[in-house]
Amino acid sequence: MEMTRTIKYEADRVKGFGEEVMSVPGCEKLKDCIQCGTCSGVCPLSIYMDFTPRQVIEMTRFDFKNEVLGSKTIWLCASCYACSVECPQQIGITDIMYELKQRAIKEKVYPRGLPTPVLAQEFTKMVHDYGRVNEILLATKMYMKTNPLAAMGMSTLGLGMIKTGRFSMIQEKIQGRADLARMLETVDEGK
Ligand code: SF4
Ligand code: SF4
Repeated sequence: MEMTRTIKYEADRVKGFGEEVMSVPGCEKLKDCIQCGTCSGVCPLSIYMDFTPRQVIEMTRFDFKNEVLGSKTIWLCASCYACSVECPQQIGITDIMYELKQRAIKEKVYPRGLPTPVLAQEFTKMVHDYGRVNEILLATKMYMKTNPLAAMGMSTLGLGMIKTGRFSMIQEKIQGRADLARMLETVDEGK
């Protein structure tokens, strides 16, 4: 993928954004980055990203909020933790990616057309509403919202898995869903 080379200016910064991210537990060490590039080197997906993990870290701490929240990188991150393990400064890069994803969803600035932000939202909603995730219903919702034609292409496979009992169309629900919803909302508000 072609890397972004756009020149950035002082006026592009959203002052305070980096500090806000650093105030979140797990993201505090962002300020210690020495820009060594190890994270980008070990990341198995960096060749597909519009910004490398090293660039995302640098842009985050220097307040380039719109660029990082609108980037495809945070959604391509597979949470493999290779970067966090290898970082010489013990920076929680994967956790920072999670934090950026949550902010992108909250502010509705994620790139349109990418399936992963939709998958993340539907997954969270399913857990909140039912306490259980049904894979086939989740995949169907994601495809219908991002690529309905692909959903039709996957239907034969899906029906085969339902027929053989590998998947079910019935949404399981836990007891005490209201309590779970309250817990999740409290965690969310505590951020
Ligand atoms: S590996 Fe760690 S110190 Fe090096 S660029 Fe990445 S985040 Fe910064
Ligand atoms: S956790 Fe994400 S950014 Fe880090 S190496 Fe894995 S895919 Fe790349």
